[in-house]
Amino acid sequence: MYKVTFQPSAAIKVEFDASNPKEYMEKMQAIEEVAQHTTCGKCGGKQVLHVVRTVNGNKFYEKHCANSQCRAVVSFGANKEGKTLFTKRFEEVEEDGETVRKWFKTPWTKYNKETGRRE
Ligand SMILES: [Zn+2]
Repeated sequence: MYKVTFQPSAAIKVEFDASNPKEYMEKMQAIEEVAQHTTCGKCGGKQVLHVVRTVNGNKFYEKHCANSQCRAVVSFGANKEGKTLFTKRFEEVEEDGETVRKWFKTPWTKYNKETGRRE
C-alpha cells in the first residue's frame, strides 16, 4: 500500500492511497490532468477559478481566468468510464459536410465572435 501526498501547487494538497503501481499512476495522472493549468495561457493571470456548470442535464467542468478583461477558459471532457477528466485540446467543427478536429494552440481558449469558434 502506498500513501501518497502530492502538492501540485501551493494552494492544492492531495492525499490518496494506492495499492499498486498501476493504481498510483492512474490516480496521479487523473490529478495532474486537472491540477495543471494554474496560470492563464492567454494573459498569464495567476488567479484561476474552478467552474462546474450544468446545462440541459450535462455537466461542464472548466477553469476560468479570473481576469475580467481576459476570461479565457480551459474545458475538460469526462471519460465515459471512471470519474476522470481530460483536457479538451480541440473542438470538432463541420466543414464541407465532414466533422473536422480543430486543434487549439493552447488549451486556454476564448470565443471568437467573428469565426464562431474557440481559439
Ligand atoms: Zn487570462
